[in-house]
Parts: sequence; structure tokens; C-alpha cells
Amino acid sequence: MVAKVIDGKAFAANVRGQVAGHVAKLKADKGITPGLAVVLVGEDPASKVYVKNKHASTIEVGMESFEHRLPAETSEADLLALIHRLNGDPAVHGILVQLPLPKHLDSELIINSIDPAKDVDGFHISNVGLLGTGQKSMVPCTPLGCLMMLRDHHGSLAGMNAVVVGRSNIVGKPMAQLLLGDSCTVTIAHSRTKDLAEVCKRADILVAAVGRPEMITGDMVKPGATVIDVGINRIERDGKAKLVGDVHYDSAAAVAGAITPVPGGVGPMTIACLLANTLTACCRANGLPEPK
Ligand code: NDP
Repeated sequence: MVAKVIDGKAFAANVRGQVAGHVAKLKADKGITPGLAVVLVGEDPASKVYVKNKHASTIEVGMESFEHRLPAETSEADLLALIHRLNGDPAVHGILVQLPLPKHLDSELIINSIDPAKDVDGFHISNVGLLGTGQKSMVPCTPLGCLMMLRDHHGSLAGMNAVVVGRSNIVGKPMAQLLLGDSCTVTIAHSRTKDLAEVCKRADILVAAVGRPEMITGDMVKPGATVIDVGINRIERDGKAKLVGDVHYDSAAAVAGAITPVPGGVGPMTIACLLANTLTACCRANGLPEPK
């Protein structure tokens, strides 16, 4: 079997196009422009690239982008004061603090100081609780993007066996919650899981969010399964820098029914969902119906 390639780049372009359409309508009909504030503390090179891309995509869909670049030595009090200001700014509908933060800053404290209604990353403890109890919340962008691609590919996910490898708060756990919400039978695997290959092989839907290059190989994949590769790993091969996922693409694609590539799979969907969440936050803040 040769797997169908799930084209996250095209899917994300479509989502961004829909968001842009809604933004144009909001501006024309209501005079409202959704605004996203992104806060970057320090000089982490990967974070700088992510923030640059987020800024460009925000502008592209017609939203306001407010960038706050702060020096690495910024104090917790100063960062909290900025978030407090953004919480109170009516032009700002979404706030994103780029992680990881420098070590002297308490990430949990910072994230939980964001107004939950503006928490477009969905990491605030209130949003985590709302998602866990199946209530309306802000849903973390990466798992939301994965869910959208899965729904698009399968229609209903009800009754499918889903295995999520990874239990981080930003990917693995919310991914599992979303799959449970769509009535999958969900297993979460992690570094202490026994016989990972056997667990993975039971999956109709296999989501890899491990952070280990090409760890999930074809012999761990059930024939016909849908494989979602969240991993972004920068490696060097044959003297060249290369981006690979947590899934060994060639061997998995030979067995799977469908698979997301890296790059061009989950990655582009993350930013598209960030924009969709900002639009949702803006509509909620203005008492308007949420775009479908
Ligand atoms: P974390 O490092 O926070 O979590 C990794 C998880 O993988 C942990 O739960 C860990 O288990 C588990 N794990 C580690 N080694 C093994 C192993 N040998 N067998 C089974 N499980 C293992 O990573 P994140 O969740 O933040 O990110 C995961 C990947 O997704 C990374 O490659 C990251 O770059 C990528 N990513 C991509 C995004 C995108 O937009 N496409 C967005 C966010 C992340 P334990 O808890 O036991 O330690």
C-alpha cells in the first residue's frame, strides 16, 4: 500500500483563505479588525523564526499584528505588566507568549496571567479545564490542526482506535482530549510505555508527538492506519541540514493508509489554527456568532 499524503500546506492555505474572508467581512460590516499580540522574550533562533512567520501570516489575512520583542533579561514583573496591558487593550483579541521562555521566568505563572478569552494558544489552566470537560474553550493550535485534517480525511472518527505518542501539555494531552471528544478509543503512550511498537500497531489513528527524529518506523504502523506526524526535528544528513518528523516517513508511508509529511503537514496547520482562534476570540469578544 502507498499512503495518501495529507497535504497540510494546501489545507492550511484553505483555512487561512477562509479566515481572511471572515476578517474582510468583519471589517466591512462591523468596522472591527481582529488583533493578535505576540510576545517574544530573548533570542532563541527557532522562536524568532516562528514569531516572524506568525507576524507575516497575521498581516496576510488582514488582521492587526502587535509584536513585542523583549530582551532575554526581562523581569517577571515587567512581562506580567505587559500582559496585563494587553489583557485590557480592546484592539488585542489574541495574546501569544512564545515558548520556551528564558529559565528565570515562570512559564505557568506567565501563561496563567493571560486573559483566558484572549489565550489563543489554549494553554491557560481555564482553557485546559474547559477542554477536558468538553466545554467551549480555546483549543491548542497544533492538536486542533491535527484534528481538522483527521476529520477532513475520515469524516467521523467515532469508534476508531487512536494512539497518541507523547503526553506534553501542549500537544499530546490536548490531542488525546480532542480525539476522545470525537469518540475515539484513546491510548496515550510515553517514554515509560511498555512495548511501544505493539501499542502503536493497534492504532487506526497514530499521532506522533515525541521530539525524536524518525522514531516511529513502518513496522510499528498498522496497515491502512492514518499517521499524523507532529515532530519537527532539525538533523544533519549527508552533510546537509534537514527537517524530519518523529515518523520514519518512507517506511511508514509504505504501510499507512494516509500520512502527513514533514515539512508540509502539521506545521502549516498550527499557524492557520492560531489565526482561526484569534478570529474566534474576536467574534466572542464582540458578541458575534463564531465562524464555522
Ligand atoms: P515534549 O518533549 O514536551 O514531549 C515529548 C513526549 O514524548 C513526552 O511525553 C515523552 O514522554 C515522550 N517520549 C519521549 N521519548 C519517548 C520514547 N522513546 N518513547 C515514547 N515516548 C517518548 O515535546 P512536545 O510535545 O512539545 O513536542 C513533540 C514534537 O512535536 C517535537 O518534535 C516538537 O518540535 C514538535 N512540535 C511541533 C509543532 C508543530 O507546529 N508542528 C508544535 C509543537 C511541537 P515522557 O512524558 O514520559 O517524558
